[in-house]
Amino acid sequence: MKIAICASEVVPFAKTGGLADVAGALPLALKEEGQEVIVVMPRYKSIQEPKFKLSRLKPGISYAVTGKNVKVYFIENEQYFNRDNLYTDKNGDYPDNLDRFSYYCRRGLDLLKEINFKADIIHVHDWQASLIPVYLKTNYAADPFYKNIKTVLTIHNIGYQGLFPKEQFPKLGLDWSLFNMEKLEFYDKVNLLKGGIVFSDLVNTVSPTYSKEIQTKEFGFGLEGVLSKRSKSLFGILNGLDYSIWNPETDKFIAARFCAKDIKGKAADKEDLQKFCGLPLKKNIPLFGIVSRLAEQKGFDILAEAIDHICNLDLQMVILGTGDIKYHVLLQDIVKKYPKVISLHLKFDDALAHKIYAGSDVFLMPSKYEPCGLGQLISLKYGTIPLVFKTGGLADTVNKNNGFIFDEYKKDALIRTIENAIKAFKNGKNWDKLMRAGMQCDFSWAESARGYIRLYGKICAK
Ligand code: ADP
Repeated sequence: MKIAICASEVVPFAKTGGLADVAGALPLALKEEGQEVIVVMPRYKSIQEPKFKLSRLKPGISYAVTGKNVKVYFIENEQYFNRDNLYTDKNGDYPDNLDRFSYYCRRGLDLLKEINFKADIIHVHDWQASLIPVYLKTNYAADPFYKNIKTVLTIHNIGYQGLFPKEQFPKLGLDWSLFNMEKLEFYDKVNLLKGGIVFSDLVNTVSPTYSKEIQTKEFGFGLEGVLSKRSKSLFGILNGLDYSIWNPETDKFIAARFCAKDIKGKAADKEDLQKFCGLPLKKNIPLFGIVSRLAEQKGFDILAEAIDHICNLDLQMVILGTGDIKYHVLLQDIVKKYPKVISLHLKFDDALAHKIYAGSDVFLMPSKYEPCGLGQLISLKYGTIPLVFKTGGLADTVNKNNGFIFDEYKKDALIRTIENAIKAFKNGKNWDKLMRAGMQCDFSWAESARGYIRLYGKICAK
């Protein structure tokens, strides 16, 4: 099959979250499975020589090659994309995000024709690329080049929908008749993700459980009705993990390497992390790690309520993350109160993230909702037992045989589960078993890619 992956961020070129990991790894895995794949993304300011080897196709389009000859095409526009950040600046969302990403979608479609890439599937990701299926079935429908192309939309997080004032609708170049409740309108606003959901041939999310959850009022962020209507075309495929990056056997960032068969190095990694963080070098109390956006979605509301209590338990904790200022302030205050218990790093730091995954005993990820989640998959591979709330991808990957899981989203349930983890660590009897069970899990991209190929096959066969 010929597949074009369209996403607004792709590792290694630009990343703000898990979307970039997926859009970076999936094309390579599809290629490994024998598919013909290209990637199309905007060219941001950070995508420059010599950091990346870039070639020019024509004015306004450059490209790079990743993996085993997968071409990544960059849509250029000085005014729209030559900026420091992807979507926001210090004042919040860029006010012209609708112009920027509708331009990206149109140019992406034009590009396919310009390079004569007659895709069987255009696989679009999140609201930024959601106009592609809309344009394909409207403004581009009369062009025979685009006639048989099918589209798949992957929703990475339904909380981000690309909402804009209706006054901006004319900028899309679409007929006003599409601005209605069945199509792109959402409470008198333009909703780009909704357009993607309505116009794509198939929709999927990044875990089976989340694909069901988003059809409910609790998790659907207002789109549950639209999604329920498409339930027969709505699937869930777990993201894979790139084990060439996340592997304790080969990880260059950690003090000592280890694997399921020989786990000794992990103790050295714990000591290294404690030293790095200025925490007491204690072997016999569990070290809890967090690598996360500091946001309510990630469980920081109940964690904030519980943190004082938690710091009085027999544990240590390392937190790496950035996000809501209120959590920055709250955690800074807590560290002042418990400097021997908690170590706080308010930044994005890939190297430290590796050290935390390797050196912690427990990985804390009490997300309120979690489309898939990468943190728990990484921690499983590093023998760091995940402690999670039973939701979305966390529910699909963590169970009592490889982690700790609570099913009532309340501070008390979180504290109780942390206490159980501490007890289990001190008791020690089953700890090794838990660690090994996690390390032996296989969440490789090959498996996810095969899932996507089966999904593409469903619509190509029609
Ligand atoms: P998200 O909802 O933020 O995309 P995921 O669990 O799917 O959450 O993916 C988050 C990814 O970003 C993981 O690879 C995690 O290790 C990484 N990450 C998050 N915050 C930081 C940070 N402050 N420093 C380094 N890596 C981070």
